[in-house]
Amino acid sequence: MKLVTYQKRDGSWQAGELRDGAIHSLGNVNLLDIIIKGGEVDTSEQFKLQGAPKTMYPYRPPKILCVGRNYPEHAAELGNELPKKPLIFSKFNTAVIGDGDSIRWRKDITQQVDWEGELGVVIGKRGFNIPEEEAYEHVFGYLLANDVTARDLQDSDKQWTRAKGMDTFCPLSTCVVTKDDILDPHNLTIETHVNGERVQHGSTGEMFFKIPFLIAYLSRTFTLESGDLILTGTPAGVGKGMTPPRFLQHGDTVSVSIEEIGTLTNTCMVEG
Ligand code: MG
Repeated sequence: MKLVTYQKRDGSWQAGELRDGAIHSLGNVNLLDIIIKGGEVDTSEQFKLQGAPKTMYPYRPPKILCVGRNYPEHAAELGNELPKKPLIFSKFNTAVIGDGDSIRWRKDITQQVDWEGELGVVIGKRGFNIPEEEAYEHVFGYLLANDVTARDLQDSDKQWTRAKGMDTFCPLSTCVVTKDDILDPHNLTIETHVNGERVQHGSTGEMFFKIPFLIAYLSRTFTLESGDLILTGTPAGVGKGMTPPRFLQHGDTVSVSIEEIGTLTNTCMVEG
């Protein structure tokens, strides 16, 4: 299933299924509730919606946990060693925006905004201390994310909270694709384009720490709750790794694509 959140005629938002190019109503339910209930939907309530209702980001994840330097070539392009254990940081859920929304920042706060196309893992069943061999039982599905990063703040602050957590710095795809629709999450092509030029191209198979290991590792220290999102790291090709370094400018368009999930496109708006 490809699940989305769409706007009803009365202005409220609810979950739907994207099928054969059209959104189908799933009744009066939101997407996070569907995740909490393990993907159960009331099929008696299903009907195909007319036209193309407005969509937004799928839902606001309770926690967004991220893995840094998880693709060897990306670690190398920024002159970093591969971490001996996963490098974990977080983004705030107030940073979430949807497909088509603007990534915004003030130029007196940062002038080095960079892209990081990533596969996001949506947690389904809640768990603590999850064994690696049971990890996929706790996965609900997958989505696309852009781990937008202010490189100058990442360097100057040392802590990454501001650099990664700024409002609008977590664009998410319209769809959550349930795990049964993804044969192998470590065999997906991932690409990022800036103004139509391909800048990142890799496979999710290049991840150094794989999804089951990450779920086991994270759940040793944090309870993973339904709807929590894990961003699994970015392949090589970020702007800071280019010669000379290239950062996002006002009016730039960034698109992240992963096969079997779709494309996430946002434009950049510099304020002040
Ligand atoms: Mg990242």
